[in-house]
Amino acid sequence: MTHLFDDPTTFSDDALAGFVAANQRFVRGTEGGVLRAAGTEHGHVAVVIGGGSGHYPAFAGLVGPGLAAAAVCGPIFTSPSAAHAQRVARAAQNGGGVLFSYGNYAGDVLHFGQAEERLNAAGIPTRTVLVTDDIASAPVEEREKRRGIAGDLTVFKVAGAAADRGDTLDEVVRVAEHANDRTRSLGVAFAGCTLPGSDEPLFTVPDGMMSLGLGIHGEPGISDHPMPSARELAELLVSRLLDERPEGADTRVVPILNGLGTITNEELFVLYGHVASLLAEAGLHIVEPECGQLVTSLDMSGLSLTLLWLDDELADLWAAPCQTPAYRKGSLPEAVFEKRAAGESADAEDATAGLPIEPAQNAAAAAVGARVVDLLVAIAATLADQEHELGALDAIAGDGDHGAGMLRGARAAQAAGKDAAAAGAGVDTVLQAAGDAWSEEAGGTSGALWGAGISAAGRALGDKESYDGSDAVRAVAAFRDDILHLGKAEIGDKTLVDALIPYADALATAMEGDSSTERLLDATQAAADRAETAAQATSDLRPKKGRARPLAERSVGHPDPGAISFALIAATIARQIRTERTGDNS
Ligand code: ADP
Ligand code: MG
Repeated sequence: MTHLFDDPTTFSDDALAGFVAANQRFVRGTEGGVLRAAGTEHGHVAVVIGGGSGHYPAFAGLVGPGLAAAAVCGPIFTSPSAAHAQRVARAAQNGGGVLFSYGNYAGDVLHFGQAEERLNAAGIPTRTVLVTDDIASAPVEEREKRRGIAGDLTVFKVAGAAADRGDTLDEVVRVAEHANDRTRSLGVAFAGCTLPGSDEPLFTVPDGMMSLGLGIHGEPGISDHPMPSARELAELLVSRLLDERPEGADTRVVPILNGLGTITNEELFVLYGHVASLLAEAGLHIVEPECGQLVTSLDMSGLSLTLLWLDDELADLWAAPCQTPAYRKGSLPEAVFEKRAAGESADAEDATAGLPIEPAQNAAAAAVGARVVDLLVAIAATLADQEHELGALDAIAGDGDHGAGMLRGARAAQAAGKDAAAAGAGVDTVLQAAGDAWSEEAGGTSGALWGAGISAAGRALGDKESYDGSDAVRAVAAFRDDILHLGKAEIGDKTLVDALIPYADALATAMEGDSSTERLLDATQAAADRAETAAQATSDLRPKKGRARPLAERSVGHPDPGAISFALIAATIARQIRTERTGDNS
């Protein structure tokens, strides 16, 4: 339970502002995250970490000399937007390039991936190393699909130490990948966590039980087990991790026993005592261990054990000094805090920020732009109505943020669309502004996809005075193609694509040979019905993409939240078109 807040919707921003105020020696705030107060040295790689909020000290608490150059901080449990990742990286970089490093989650991959592309296009060399330490989230043959949990710390620490000693971007990437290859984690939960402002936890663990293989976003564990003693739990975690000893590892390991938010340090120490003896019994040598709250999940009760398997190179980088708000090692000269801030101004460099709105060629084109805004208003209203249902559906196997994320995106799109229309913009410009705002404000997987899809639909429509049914078919096809290209999901993966493809097909078929607006009324309704049926039919599927994949079994019997929200929006579009044409909004 989160007891203290002003407004749940601004909780993560409010917390970040207070964090910056409390840690001015180390960090300063910037739009979308935090930077080292003293900047990074010229020519050094800027290690930019990030992800959703709710994991303190990850990620903002790990910014400082010897560790990260900056952190991009999204809403609670939701990936930050591409625009924020790009801005924070621009402000942090100082001529040595950028390494993005974060846990492997679909939303983060989409947004940071877009930012990486744009930074490279702007001449700032940028690379990515994903953290994939959670052994419960995919079998060892599919290590690249595993999600990142407390192993974030080892990868960030190694990368930060390499960057600060002046390694090149290629070298920093190499050692960070090496650290990830040598890191394994497994977690358990005793009770779920609760989003600020919510009364219900994202998942519950039955009394007397423990959930094994949890995620750090309130994704429930993979399986429930009777509550063990500390000794039994240590045996379970250590034996599972030792089963996956990386190839070529010697006997040196760093154990990290991580609390997830509300376990006492005393309990962690009881467990650590057993972990240390078990590792010693296995003939391993413990180097600079950690025991504390390092990557949390709001108020989740639980813990994870991570092992970093050292070699000489990793041992040096792990031992190197660092000074951050939440994680300190060794000592550094006072001078590291005095360097002048050398990052470039994010705004001055950001070509996409604040472009003037292009007015449509004439009043008729601007009038259609204004009608698109009515549609965005209707979509936001539908999502406001369904926010909690969509959130509950996403909590079954995901992280429970789908309703809040979609609503944040739709409201931002509505506001940006309104501003553009007020400046006389046509359909394309209104939709570009709406798509950018959706992606930027929503974050998360669906935020990246909807933002990009809406912008693509705008490009397909252009700024015209009037449109017919064939324009609608082309816009929907462009929306679909962009989402397929970006998310790479296929039919049957249990994503919004399972509703989107039948929708686009149904619309195209219904409009064949007659692109009149009269036909469009029926066609959008028929396509929306098809999307609704297809969305419900995802109940039978097991998710193959996104946050819900590790919990595929739990998801069976429930439809995919993204497919359901797509169908709701499709129905809203059909209703809005009918209202406009006939004034009938039944
Ligand atoms: P997150 O998963 O980042 O928390 P949301 O909860 O907002 O984001 O959105 C989850 C939805 O995103 C899923 O229900 C699914 O429909 C959709 N989704 C996930 N991955 C993909 C993908 N690769 N392509 C298309 N849609 C996806
Ligand atoms: Mg989600």
